[in-house]
Amino acid sequence: MKVHEYQAKALFAQYHLPVDKSVLCRTVDEAVSAYQSLGSERAVVKAQVHTGGRGKAGGVKVAKGEEQLKEYASQILGMDIKGFTVDRILVGEAIDIASEYYVSIVIDRKVKSAILMLSREGGMDIESVAKNTPEKIHKIPIDPLIGMPDYLAREAAFCLFDDKALVKQAVPVFQNLYRLFKEKDASLAEINPLVVTKSGEVKAIDAKMTFDNNALYRHPDVFELFEPTAEERKEQDAKDKGFSYVNLGGEIGCMVNGAGLAMATMDMIKLYGGNPANFLDIGGSSNPTKIVEAMKLLLSDSHVRVVLINIFGGITRCDDVAKGLIEAFKMLDTDMPIVIRLTGTNEAEGRELLKGTKFHVAKTMSEAGKKAVELAQQCMNK
Ligand code: GDP
Ligand code: MN
Repeated sequence: MKVHEYQAKALFAQYHLPVDKSVLCRTVDEAVSAYQSLGSERAVVKAQVHTGGRGKAGGVKVAKGEEQLKEYASQILGMDIKGFTVDRILVGEAIDIASEYYVSIVIDRKVKSAILMLSREGGMDIESVAKNTPEKIHKIPIDPLIGMPDYLAREAAFCLFDDKALVKQAVPVFQNLYRLFKEKDASLAEINPLVVTKSGEVKAIDAKMTFDNNALYRHPDVFELFEPTAEERKEQDAKDKGFSYVNLGGEIGCMVNGAGLAMATMDMIKLYGGNPANFLDIGGSSNPTKIVEAMKLLLSDSHVRVVLINIFGGITRCDDVAKGLIEAFKMLDTDMPIVIRLTGTNEAEGRELLKGTKFHVAKTMSEAGKKAVELAQQCMNK
């Protein structure tokens, strides 16, 4: 789960990380009074959206004086950044930056622990630093049983600074950032840039955090900040109906029972040159209402051209599933091509029932995958 910069900064402040005063605003008028309350000549105006690269997109501007602040606030409010419309801005005291650094804590699956990532080349071009000069990014594993003792934080700080006064300021920054990361079950805590001001102070001027969804139940304060996208809302609805659903953006909708079979079905589609629109595990049972709900979910995705239904009849019998499907499609008004593959108990009987219906019935998984890709290509060529 993502949160906005201003929300991450509030958490930073709770953990004594050096963030400056800033005010969240939803209108230009609010921005003007925020500016007046800050009482500094220069102020920074920042778009609050769930995506990075705001600076490059023109969503971060430093204003000199009230007139310019008004101008920038009205420019940035309503702006579109990578498909997100800006409805909130953060107005803060502008910092005199001497240099910018990159600091983050993330889970590294290879190392099997959290790592502290650091670079002297922080700021808006960190992606190209990672790509072109990866040796400029330091990665320090954090043993979960040891955490971040002083010696480790100091060693880390020397990766960024040569000046001892700066090292001294950086040590609690790393330690508090790790404490926040761990206590709130974050999956990312990033400061980019961490800056040194012209007067020699270390400050966090950006804050980015994401959280482990599976741990949200124990962090109501974080869960409160959840602003689901349309896609996430759909996934949540599906979950409430007892499905496990992930949108993947392709053209072949998949309805499968069992997560392993669903994964294998997606692989099969890929093998034949298609793209799965989703992962969908409908679980056991051939209940027609469940199939109707699942179909509605797939049909609400405008990218879907074909639906592939792949069912393994273990305890559920394939002839029951076939009956369920026939019942379900009486309730659905769609001319979407449907490929069905049934396997397991009573599969022959199941297929027999589907004979003469509008469904494309396949016997094997590869036959089904191939057929679905073929039909999808036909639809897209029309
Ligand atoms: P991002 O592009 O979405 O990561 O947004 P950031 O908050 O990191 O801001 C982008 C850039 O704007 C930073 O790298 C800084 O160079 C600059 N910037 C942000 N805040 C300030 C500020 O208070 N003063 C000055 N001078 N520059 C700032
Ligand atoms: Mn940034």
